[in-house]
Amino acid sequence: MTKRAYNFNAGPAALPLEVLERAQKEFVDYQGNGMSIMEMSHRGAVYEAVHNEAQQRLLSLLGNPEGYKVLFLQGGASTQFAMLPLNLLGEGQVASYVATGSWADKAISEAKLIGEAHVAASSEAQDFMQIPALEDIQIPDNAAYLHVTSNETIGGIQYKEFPDTGNVPLIVDMSSDILSRPLDMSQFGMIYAGAQKNLGPSGVTVVVAREELLANSPKSIPTIMRYSTYLKNNSLYNTPPSFAIYMVNEVLKWIEEQGGLEGVARNNERKAALIYDAIDQSGGFYKGAAEVSSRSNMNITFRLSSEELDKAFAKASEQAGFVGLKGHRSVGGLRASIYNAVPYESCEALVEFMKDFQAKNS
Ligand SMILES: *Cc1c(COP(=O)(O)O)cnc(C)c1O
Repeated sequence: MTKRAYNFNAGPAALPLEVLERAQKEFVDYQGNGMSIMEMSHRGAVYEAVHNEAQQRLLSLLGNPEGYKVLFLQGGASTQFAMLPLNLLGEGQVASYVATGSWADKAISEAKLIGEAHVAASSEAQDFMQIPALEDIQIPDNAAYLHVTSNETIGGIQYKEFPDTGNVPLIVDMSSDILSRPLDMSQFGMIYAGAQKNLGPSGVTVVVAREELLANSPKSIPTIMRYSTYLKNNSLYNTPPSFAIYMVNEVLKWIEEQGGLEGVARNNERKAALIYDAIDQSGGFYKGAAEVSSRSNMNITFRLSSEELDKAFAKASEQAGFVGLKGHRSVGGLRASIYNAVPYESCEALVEFMKDFQAKNS
C-alpha cells in the first residue's frame, strides 16, 4: 500500500485517494482511446463528454438551480477578483464588499483598480477573527453587487448564513468551502472558486452564476476577460485546462458517493468538532484563534501560549508525519486545513498528536 501523509495543506490540498487511484488507472489510456485525456483534442467528443458531465454534476450537486450556468476558467480565484468588476461594475455603480480578512482585501484592492469600491462591513476591529453581523452590512443603492468571502482560509472564519441582499446580486468567493455543505443557490447571483482546495487540482476556476450576470459583458474589455465569451462558447473559446476539469469531474463523482453535500457536511462537522473539542478541552494549552460563532469547518486556526511553542509544535508535527500545520506567514500560529477530502482518520491522528504534545510540554 502507498504511504499517504497526514495532509493538512491549505491549498493545493488533499484529494480523495479513490480519485487519485481512478485517475492513475486511466492516466495512460483513457477508456480505450489509446491516449491520456490530456493528449486529446478539447474539441473531440470524448473530452467534451467529460467537460459537459462535470458541469452537469456540479449543477446537480447544487440542486439543479434554474437559470444558472457553469463556467470553467483559468487564472485562479485571483483572476476573478479582477474579472468580476471588469464585467459587472457599470458606470455610476459601486462594487460593495464585506472585509473579512486577507482574501476579501485582495478582492477589494482589485475592484479599486477598476472602479469605485465600497466596504459594506468590516471585522478589522476584531482582527478579522469573526464574520461581521449580517445586520451591520450596509449596501449602497447603486451597488452593482455585494461580494463576500464565504470562508477566510487564512484567518479560519466562515459564514454560517449569508446576507439577504434583495435585488443586489450576492457574489461569493467560495474557494475554500465550495461543496462542503448544502447551499441554497437561489440566494447567490454568482459563486466562484479556484479548484485546488475542495474541487480538484489547481489550474481550473469554477464559476456558477445566473445566466443574465454572464451574458452582458462590456465589449470594452478583452475578449478573454468577458464572462460572455465563456458562456457563448461553453468554456471552449480557447483551450480549457482539460486534465484539471477531468479531475474535478472525478471529485464530483466522489462527492456523490459520500451522499452528496449532506454527506460531506456531516463528515466535515464531525472532523471539525473533533479538533475544536481537543482545543477547547486542553485547559488553555491550545487556544482557538477565531471567535467561536465564526469558526470555520475547513481551516482550524489555533495557537499555543508562545511563538516558541507554536514553532516547536510545527516542527514536532512534521517529524511525526503531519504536513501543512504551520499557520499562514501573514498571521502565524497554526492551522489545520480539513477540506472535504481530508479523512476523519487524519483528524483523529492529529488530536492524538496534540494530546501527546501537550503531555510532553506542560
Ligand atoms: C486560495 C484562495 C484564493 C486564491 O486562489 P488562487 O486560485 O490561488 O487565485 C482566493 N480566495 C480564497 C478564499 C482562497 O482560499
